[in-house]
Amino acid sequence: MHITCPHCLHKAHITSSNDLNDEKTISDLYCICLNPDCAGRFVMQLAFQRWLAPPAISIVQLAANLLNTLSKAEREALLQGLPPG
Ligand SMILES: [Zn+2]
Repeated sequence: MHITCPHCLHKAHITSSNDLNDEKTISDLYCICLNPDCAGRFVMQLAFQRWLAPPAISIVQLAANLLNTLSKAEREALLQGLPPG
């Protein structure tokens, strides 16, 4: 990940990070500017915003969750290509 110093616009290095929630969707990034004439230290915030495409595992999990709501007979009918019920 490329971090830019907000003061001199030089490249900066992430020295550590701190997750701010259990889902790890928002974190504080502790940074130091690599410009020796600046060497500023600062905190940037990294946050998940939105999915552009759902992760494949979510689709599989969604299908599994839906299947688990069906009775055994409904699942068997579905797997045989018959309409459930
Ligand atoms: Zn700087």
